[in-house]
Amino acid sequence: MSKHILILGGGYGGLLAAMKTREHLSVEEAQITVVNRFSTHQIITELHRLAASSISEKSVSLPLDKLLKNYKVELRIATVKGISPDKREVSLEDGSILTYDYLVVALGSETAFFGIPGLKENSFVLKSVDDAIRIRAHVEKHIAEYRKTKNKASSTIVVGGAGLTGTELSGEFSELIPKLCLKYGVDPKDVSLYCVEASPTILAGFPSGLVERAYTSLTNRGVTFLTGTPVTKVNGKTVELKDGRKLETETLIWTGGVQGNSIVANSGMDVSRGRVLVNEFLQSPSHDDVFVAGDSAVVMGPDGTTYPPTAQLAWQMGETVGVNIAIAIRGGSMEPFVPIFSGTLASLGRQDAVGTVGENRTELKGLPAALMKQASDIRYLSHIKGLFTLAY
Ligand code: NAD
Repeated sequence: MSKHILILGGGYGGLLAAMKTREHLSVEEAQITVVNRFSTHQIITELHRLAASSISEKSVSLPLDKLLKNYKVELRIATVKGISPDKREVSLEDGSILTYDYLVVALGSETAFFGIPGLKENSFVLKSVDDAIRIRAHVEKHIAEYRKTKNKASSTIVVGGAGLTGTELSGEFSELIPKLCLKYGVDPKDVSLYCVEASPTILAGFPSGLVERAYTSLTNRGVTFLTGTPVTKVNGKTVELKDGRKLETETLIWTGGVQGNSIVANSGMDVSRGRVLVNEFLQSPSHDDVFVAGDSAVVMGPDGTTYPPTAQLAWQMGETVGVNIAIAIRGGSMEPFVPIFSGTLASLGRQDAVGTVGENRTELKGLPAALMKQASDIRYLSHIKGLFTLAY
């Protein structure tokens, strides 16, 4: 009898899980439903570019119905409200209840605000295409307003957190601001772009030479990094830092970290900080009919450390989940998840980047790194589009 596979999320993990499952199972064997709150698959690794208009909306927002056209998958545009794994039920915000034989949870992560007073209420986040478009319009509006009002808060932009997201966004803004200043007749020297980081350095985990390179490159392009000084409170337009400094801004973008999705955290599955602790087959140990891909899962490496929540791992996990569900239905031994780390690259604007590639963590910087980053984006897009031909 045909099984119902319900996939929550149409991001990297969910999309690849749907494609891989259908690659292995015919419609007679499995009915597949993908639930996603947007009608598009969003290339969230490129949102910093959209927030600065250096990429078009359509290149980061791909219609799911087109991507899944040949896969015989039911697409449901809806927001998941809750998961009841004991009842094998998922509730949606529109009031419907969906049941399943196998569930794939791939709902991604949420921005973490760490309980910092006033932060959530007074900041933008960069987690979706809509967020990026909102930020872009807001920045432009306030640069334009500054010309009339000379209100310094309008020409001050604060990025909270200098991890990959905050650093990449700062790099894009360093290129956007001169263009907006030219458009609205504002002196670029009147615009302040701060990136505030709690740790002593930006880009934690990167080799020190590359951190230095990124710091110098972005500082030369107008970014002021305030490191070793966490944001402690946000009071309306005032961002308070631990060292007592206060920044007055109309534009605070919070990129200080991510945490598990609250729907997953409240599902009753065994979780750690809102992310499901999965076994080597990416199954919930407490509910073996639930598989988890991407940031919704915590995967432990052989050395006991957890893998970072990245896009490259999310799509690899989605594919392993697809294969393992097919095996769970047809019988056989499931495949353990073995990640391939192709490297980590941080873009610093259009022509610059830093990062490491390959198993030996070869360091790259400048244009070669920027081109390598573009190549990895193209590789992903051609991968998801190329899979079309493989489907039933
Ligand atoms: P992150 O957790 O990697 O970085 C957040 C930064 O904010 C940290 O440096 C942290 O010290 C800082 N921070 C936390 N609290 C703070 C405070 N109160 N004040 C100031 N700074 C504070 O988060 P991210 O950059 O959003 O990345 C999330 C995940 O996505 C990571 O695993 C990352 O590797 C991945 N990612 C990858 C890419 C890429 O590969 N190019 C791009 C973006 C994100």
